[in-house]
This record gives sequence, structure tokens and C-alpha cells, in this order.
Amino acid sequence: MKPDYLIVGAGFAGSVCARVLAEAGRRVHLIDKREHIGGNAYDQRDAHGVLIHPYGPHIFHTNSKKVFEYLSRFTTWRFYEHRVLAQVDGRLLPIPINRSTINQLYGLNLGEDEVQPYLDSVREPREPLQTSEDVVLNSVGRDLCDKFFRGYTRKQWGLDLSQLSAGVAARIPTRCNDDDRYFGDSFQFMPAEGYTRMFERMLDHPGITVQTGTDFRAVREQFPGVHIIYTGPIDAFFDHCHGALPYRSLSFAHEHLAGTEQFQPVGTVNYPNDHDYTRITEFKHLTGETHAGTSIVREYPQAEGDPYYPVPRPENEALYKRYQALAEATPGVTFVGRLAQYRYYNMDQIVATALKTAEDLLQTGAAPEAAR
Ligand code: FAD
Ligand code: UDP
Repeated sequence: MKPDYLIVGAGFAGSVCARVLAEAGRRVHLIDKREHIGGNAYDQRDAHGVLIHPYGPHIFHTNSKKVFEYLSRFTTWRFYEHRVLAQVDGRLLPIPINRSTINQLYGLNLGEDEVQPYLDSVREPREPLQTSEDVVLNSVGRDLCDKFFRGYTRKQWGLDLSQLSAGVAARIPTRCNDDDRYFGDSFQFMPAEGYTRMFERMLDHPGITVQTGTDFRAVREQFPGVHIIYTGPIDAFFDHCHGALPYRSLSFAHEHLAGTEQFQPVGTVNYPNDHDYTRITEFKHLTGETHAGTSIVREYPQAEGDPYYPVPRPENEALYKRYQALAEATPGVTFVGRLAQYRYYNMDQIVATALKTAEDLLQTGAAPEAAR
């Protein structure tokens, strides 16, 4: 029987839409070109039995009670607050930059109320804050910018901080106290049995059929008249007719260290100035599992390969807008997700957007503006 919706992509965007629509009585067929569900949040056990994230470390955090409660229908949680150290001048220092970072780096003994005056003495006020360089120089000044941000950003994006929109570096706060958590959100948890298990439960509904290992391009003709929810790269949907939208890719070097119980003191260590990789993540910190050995991943940014990050800068936004205009002129298709909306969204933002998209589709029968 013909489904009511064909959903392309079984990540957060596609899976949340599928569940909401199915619970409203719609028949949903969900495809993904990969051999598994979960999109980039997919996790699996490696050959040594350690739960790893093949597409890089995924830590769940949100300020949205609605998002947290929605996902809680499909998983229980393990409390986990992510901590990150950056290797700078041969030392491991807290990032986001906080009181302790500054005191350790410069051999100071600033009290909490002395940190902002110190930052005021080194910061380079910028107005307006247009680029990521503006953001960092405006908050912490040149030396901290060069030590913690410029090299990391150059590696991660292949661009200088000044070539990226403000929102990229604005993801990282500056703190005057000793809070060394990477995220400040009110909900910080990992799915207790992993992301894939959570996706399995979300998609376990009689209204949903799942077909992995299936590329949209190979099957699109088989669904005439079926409303499509597309969560892949928007430029690919339109055969790159306006040119390719830049996406940043990564190569993940996974390694198991059989004789090592703990490789590093925290979940992630960033390498702003050393090595070709940006960061190393040790999964057992994230999952709370105990193993005799340990599994880690190094992330090597690259231009070519699977698209992982939209690249936030004005010229790319302008090109995206041209695809967005095409999307608006294409009836019967809804675009939602990090690659389809060309937005540097975290998982919770995708869940929120997908919930709204699916609810709007049910209300209006048409694609909502926010998702186009
Ligand atoms: P995706 O997960 O990319 O899913 C899209 C799916 O569509 C993919 O499975 C793809 O195979 C499929 N697809 C594409 N084209 C086709 C086609 N033609 N036919 C069939 N299927 C197709 N967020 C956080 O909140 N916390 C984190 O710690 C975090 N860490 C991250 C680390 C890395 C390295 C990366 C890359 C991202 C991270 N994110 C994190 C962001 C998070 O991955 C995304 O917000 C979220 O996964 C996006 O979900 P999505 O459904 O939009 O896209
Ligand atoms: N960043 C940096 N140094 C760091 C951490 C982050 O320069 O130690 C900058 C860099 O440009 C990075 C951005 O801040 O791409 C966002 O960092 P985040 O950790 O949020 O990136 P993600 O986890 O999405 O890869």
C-alpha cells in the first residue's frame, strides 16, 4: 500500500517526523542510504565490545523540557556533564575558558570577581560582532584567541576565524568562575542504552516501515504523489543546480587501546595548535561503561567526504537561500534537518524543529514555513 509520507533520512529529523506522523495515523515509509538508522548519532559496539559513536562523539544537552520529555519516551538516561580540556603550551587547560584556565595559563591567582576586569584589560572590543574573530577578540583578546581558537578553527573549517559567521565561536562561552562543563544546559544526559536503541524504540510503530541501504535517487520514482520529507543535503536534492553548497567533512580514526584503562582524564581533549586532528574523545567517559581497555577517536577535518557540517558564512548563506527559494517552489516536499536547512544545529534543535514540522504538517496538510 502506498504510504502517506516518504521520509528520506533516519536521523533525528526523519525519525522524529516519522513517529509523530505515525502516531497521528499516517503511514510512513522511512529510507536511509546508510545500512542503519540514527543518522550521525548512530552508536554501536566496536570489535572489543565498547559502545562507540562511529560518526564522532555525540553528547546530548538541551534547555528544552519539551524535547527532553519527548525523547524520554524512548530512552532512560544517564546523567553526564561533558568536560573538555585543551592542550595549550604543553598543558591541559579547561575549555570553555574559565577562571582556572586563565590562572593556570598565566600563573595568576585571580578571584572570581577579578576575572572580568582582567578580561576587560585584554579584550579588543568589537561592534558589531559579525565574524567569529569579532566574538573571540571581543570577549578574551588576542593571546587567548590565538592559543585556544585560531588554530583549532583553521583546522576544523579550513578557514580563519574572520571568515566564519559569529555564531560558530559564539557556541563556546567564557566564564569567570570555575565551571568547567562544556555545556551550560539544564538537561545534560546520555541515552542509557545508547542512541541506536533509542531510535529503534522511536521507529517501532505499526505505521512506520524502515528501509535502510536505500538511496532516495534510486527509489524516488516509485512514490508518485507521496509527500516527501527530505533530511539530506538540500543541494543534492536539486542536483546541485546552483553549484555545490560547502559542507565540512571529517575523517574519524578509531582506535582501541587494549592495555589502557583510561587514556585521558576527561571525555574530550582538544588540540588547537598541535597535530592534524582537532580532538580526541574517549568513549567510556561519555557512556559510563567499564572495560579493561578503552576506545578513542581522533577527528581529522577535511573538505571532501560525507557532509557533516554546514559552513556558516555569508556567501554560503546566500547560496543556501537560492536553494531555499527552489524548495519553496517545490510542492509536496518538506525540507527539515541539519543538512536540508543548512543550519549548524545540535541534536535537540533538530528534534524541536522536527516536532514542529510534523505537527504543522498534520495541522495544515502542507509544509510549514520554518522547515522550508
Ligand atoms: P543526520 O543525522 O545527518 O541524518 C540525515 C540522514 O539522511 C543520514 O543518515 C543520511 O544517510 C540520510 N540521507 C542523506 N541523503 C540521503 C539520500 N539521498 N537517500 C537516503 N538517505 C539519505 N549534536 C549535539 O547535540 N551534541 C553533540 O555532541 C554533537 N556532536 C556532533 C559531532 C559531530 C562530529 C557531528 C558531525 C555532529 C554532531 N552533532 C552533535 C550534531 C548532530 O549530529 C546533528 O544535529 C543531528 O544528527 C542532525 O540530525 P539530522 O537528522 O538532521 O541529520
Ligand atoms: N572552537 C575552538 N577551540 C576549541 C573549541 C571550539 O576554536 O577548543 C571553535 C571552533 O571554531 C569550533 C567551534 O568553536 O568549530 C564550535 O565548537 P564545538 O565544540 O561546538 O564544535 P562541534 O562539537 O560542533 O564540532
